[in-house]
Amino acid sequence: MAQLLLIEDDERVRTALLRALRDLDHQVASAPDAMTGLRAAVDHRPDLVVLDLGLPDLDGGEMLRMLRGVSDVPVIVATARDDEDEIVRALGAGADDYVVKPFTARQLDARIQAVLRRSASGAQAEQAVAVGPLRIDPRGRSAHLDGRALELSPKEFDLLHYLASRAGEVVAKRQLLTDVWNLPFGGADKTVDVHLAWLRRKLGETAQRPRLLHTVRGVGVKLVDPGEGDAS
Ligand code: CA
Repeated sequence: MAQLLLIEDDERVRTALLRALRDLDHQVASAPDAMTGLRAAVDHRPDLVVLDLGLPDLDGGEMLRMLRGVSDVPVIVATARDDEDEIVRALGAGADDYVVKPFTARQLDARIQAVLRRSASGAQAEQAVAVGPLRIDPRGRSAHLDGRALELSPKEFDLLHYLASRAGEVVAKRQLLTDVWNLPFGGADKTVDVHLAWLRRKLGETAQRPRLLHTVRGVGVKLVDPGEGDAS
């Protein structure tokens, strides 16, 4: 059971989801617009927020940024269309995961459980990792490259930390989906590719000219120490 906050303007959808999520043993508060939702996020301190991206008063990305300004609460966004740009923007603005409408309460619940497991395991303290010019401090959730602090989203940090902890090892994308995102589904999910692309950009490299993060075609990715000469 989790304390959830559902921010959804469509009353019919909101009422149906409220009932279904309560039937799944969650405690659910709800809000019909972004401003009420922001206040509720501060007042109720939910374990997780389900946020409809199509709200009447604020654009979804704006809402996410404002929410991130007041809380680290995990967020699952609900989008009306399977629109890659919109999903990418939402993940970039700090969403932890997404569902595409129409979705069932059970699908949403599976995502909720996965996101909550992730944020719980992410809270565990771990040891610092160093790979060549890269330094990662899981306790402070900070990463430095060539002595310069990297500005990473929580998920980019988790991904980098995961790969750096397995430096030199080829990691399959499906394995990333399972271990970093806790999602047992393969294939169609673009989440891993999108986050790898962002991470590359923040590391100042490209897939064509990698330094640390190497694609192993058809297999996965690996992070290597550029000083070790194994840049194949
Ligand atoms: Ca809506």
